[in-house]
Amino acid sequence: MKQTDSISTLDGGLTLVAHKHLSTGSAISSMEQSKQYIVPLQQHIGVISQALVKKGDRVLKGQMLAKPGNLISAAVHSPVSGIVCDVKQHDIPHISGNSDLCIFIENDFKDEWIERHPLADDYNQTSSSDMRKLIRDAGIVGLGGATFPASVKQTEMNIETLILNAVECEPYITCDDVLMREHAKDVLSGADIIGHIIKARQCIIAIEENKPEAIKAIQLAIDNDGTGFFKIQVIPTIYPSGGEKQLIQIITGQEVPKGRYPAELGVLCHNVATAYAIYRAVYLDEPLISRITTVTGHGVKQPQNIEVLIGTPMRSCIEHCGGYTENSEELIMGGPMMGFSLKSDSLPVVKATNCLLVTAKEENPYQQKHLPCIRCGKCVEVCPVRLLPQQLYWYASSKNIDRLIEHNIFDCIECGCCAYVCPSEIPLVQYYRYAKTTIWQQERERKSSDISRQRHESHQLRLEKQKQEREEKLRKKRELLKNKSDDNAAGTKGSDKNNKQTTIAEAVARAQAKKAERNKVNNNEDKETG
Ligand code: SF4
Ligand code: SF4
Repeated sequence: MKQTDSISTLDGGLTLVAHKHLSTGSAISSMEQSKQYIVPLQQHIGVISQALVKKGDRVLKGQMLAKPGNLISAAVHSPVSGIVCDVKQHDIPHISGNSDLCIFIENDFKDEWIERHPLADDYNQTSSSDMRKLIRDAGIVGLGGATFPASVKQTEMNIETLILNAVECEPYITCDDVLMREHAKDVLSGADIIGHIIKARQCIIAIEENKPEAIKAIQLAIDNDGTGFFKIQVIPTIYPSGGEKQLIQIITGQEVPKGRYPAELGVLCHNVATAYAIYRAVYLDEPLISRITTVTGHGVKQPQNIEVLIGTPMRSCIEHCGGYTENSEELIMGGPMMGFSLKSDSLPVVKATNCLLVTAKEENPYQQKHLPCIRCGKCVEVCPVRLLPQQLYWYASSKNIDRLIEHNIFDCIECGCCAYVCPSEIPLVQYYRYAKTTIWQQERERKSSDISRQRHESHQLRLEKQKQEREEKLRKKRELLKNKSDDNAAGTKGSDKNNKQTTIAEAVARAQAKKAERNKVNNNEDKETG
């Protein structure tokens, strides 16, 4: 499987052996509906969505099951009509291998939709903010694998160029290729809607040269459109040209600075399947309840692209494609370069499931045993981000977090080029992912302990404040009581004085009256004797 050539348009990168022909021999097929669907509440980058239904509720197809948890979040919807038979933790297809909260829907096979009111061409008269709300309510996320909520990306203004990413550089994946072949006009409609929202002046549809049929279909749709808004940019088949920053660099010649966003260069990038989902939301009033998934590899009997409802058990997809071959070995979600191994095929298809790769023994990219690093430097030559993969490997092995951060581990896009060329077959990306997860975990723990400490300190402060308030209250009360008793004392003293004065006045009055009486008697006696 390994074969490399030198390339020139990207820093690093590889020309990989293609396996796309495996799944492009037939049209996109639709699957039979399953009895049960498992819809995880976390299918996107950001905060988990909040359930709006509970066990026992009847739901309609397209009904919102959970609303976005906050701004960076996405709604999820019911893929069928039926009954919510459980809301509980279940394994989800995620690189962490963790479980998460999922809504289980028992299909009633009535296919009863919610009431729908498609906006269709009226979107041209609808404001950007209303359109973003519509896309948010439809639960649309980046379908190229990033799963970032699409409407959040569209809040950036002053965008000159919308780039529609149809590169699809992973060697087995063809879902975007067949989408463009079969739905070119609708893809353009979706791009036009995005263009309306962000007020872009042009839309460049970037397609790798190894997709001649898709290029032809898109070109035909552009010619029929005739507005001059769209243009195809065919780019060389070099992995990983489909990385957002790599593609922007190829098309604009500008590098998105570290820690900055493409919008700062006047560019917004959306995957071609995201544009198609937006078309369906606007023209059919259909939320994101299905996607096109490539089921491929030498471990599955009839590789092909299928339109699959979100929440379908992966096993049903494999069965739809004829089942496993005898030498099937591993189930991978995504491609061999950036995908990850799944522990079970009972996991549900999610919005990010662009590919289910079933490897046969000879094509398994994840070797269990590897040889020591021989310091050949090949990994450095192919890194599109100009990192030092060998150094990262050493620091990841020795869990030297400071050095990993110094060597920009978080700039690694996990493209797998380094691991692909490594003669010692070291699964370098797995080391980087593990290291990143460890750092995130430590960061979370640090934050959580910071939060606990802050909570404790706030609690202590609150107690201290309450104590002070109580003491202040007591002090005031005491003061009030003291003042009162002083007043009383002063009041008593005053009335005593008054009483005394009255008594004196009365005594004086009595003495004067006696004296006057005595004078009167004396005068009378003088008169009688005179
Ligand atoms: S390619 Fe492999 S062996 Fe060579 S330097 Fe890099 S990690 Fe070491
Ligand atoms: S996986 Fe990371 S380190 Fe390796 S080549 Fe890609 S970007 Fe560079």
